[in-house]
Amino acid sequence: MFNALIVNKNDEGKTSAEITRIGLDDLPAGEVTVAVEYSTVNYKDGLCLGPGGGLVRNYPHVPGIDFAGTVEASDDPRYKAGDKVVLTGWRVGEAHWGGYAQKARVKADWLVPLPAGLDTRRAMAVGTAGLTAMLAVMALEDHGIKGGPVLVTGAAGGVGSVATAILAGLGHEVAAVTGRPETADYLTSLGATQIVAREDLNETTKRPLEAETWAGCVDAVGGEMLARVLGQMKYGASVSAVGLAGGAGLPATVIPFLLRGVNLLGIDSVMQPYDNRLRAWGRIAKDLPMDKLEAMVQPATLSDLPALGRDILKGQIKGRVVVDVN
Ligand code: NDP
Repeated sequence: MFNALIVNKNDEGKTSAEITRIGLDDLPAGEVTVAVEYSTVNYKDGLCLGPGGGLVRNYPHVPGIDFAGTVEASDDPRYKAGDKVVLTGWRVGEAHWGGYAQKARVKADWLVPLPAGLDTRRAMAVGTAGLTAMLAVMALEDHGIKGGPVLVTGAAGGVGSVATAILAGLGHEVAAVTGRPETADYLTSLGATQIVAREDLNETTKRPLEAETWAGCVDAVGGEMLARVLGQMKYGASVSAVGLAGGAGLPATVIPFLLRGVNLLGIDSVMQPYDNRLRAWGRIAKDLPMDKLEAMVQPATLSDLPALGRDILKGQIKGRVVVDVN
């Protein structure tokens, strides 16, 4: 028997999360059983821990869109007992039981071998947020980053923190947008050289183009901020659109695309093909400074998760949470 954080929904549609003892037979079907060591908290986990989002199809449910651990049993030749693995995406923790348990059973296709240079705890300090940040940086690089500065929005959040540390580590000048001025020292410690107040960017303007300011952008916010940023990009520069912390709308014009050749690049981490996942994890091990990753980490346990889920939905988590499920 082992611990799992199980979310149930009652007849009135109200959800509740409780740590419950379950057995291996309770786990869903899958080729690989993993002894989970660490998980984390992403925005989607906040939704799946409560009633929001409509992401969870069936209850009882085990959330946790990410986990890292050791293979315990495998029916797939690619994995054997003792292998260290990491899982992000594939709707695990939403449509399938996820990482908020001491064991998980999943498809072999969804796993990635732990890259050299990372342990399971660090892999979860990275998690979906960090993997997505790296995918966003890789997309900017593929389109060329000429000069600086590179803007990161939602900078004190998970995606933003990792993107800031990676970009600064690669030698880019980083401007970090935050609505929490008290995080300025933290963002500077990650490598940001300029702090931009959220208020400066979250108002709409009638001007479709403003001064050419940013050589690239990793945008975790969307909404009015993304629309505003598009009009401030330098000629030929690119924006990786990652998130919607500020809204799913995009009240923009096409003028930045037509007159400045700006590129808007969509970033999805969930269905990302295996080869690019491997490439991104390899880049993380190589290009994310580990001392900066450590500075982002807030430790937690399974019992902390309901409160942390509420916090991330309110944009109140700084950096990355690492959940020790044992
Ligand atoms: P966090 O909650 O950790 O970070 C989001 C940050 O956005 C906050 O910390 C805050 O930063 C800022 N923010 C919050 N609310 C607002 C607002 N109303 N207006 C402007 N800024 C705001 O979440 P994550 O970093 O984990 O995820 C960020 C986004 O990326 C989410 O929307 C998430 O769903 C999405 N995402 C997408 C993925 C993909 O595959 N495309 C994968 C992972 C995440 P600050 O306090 O510094 O202003």
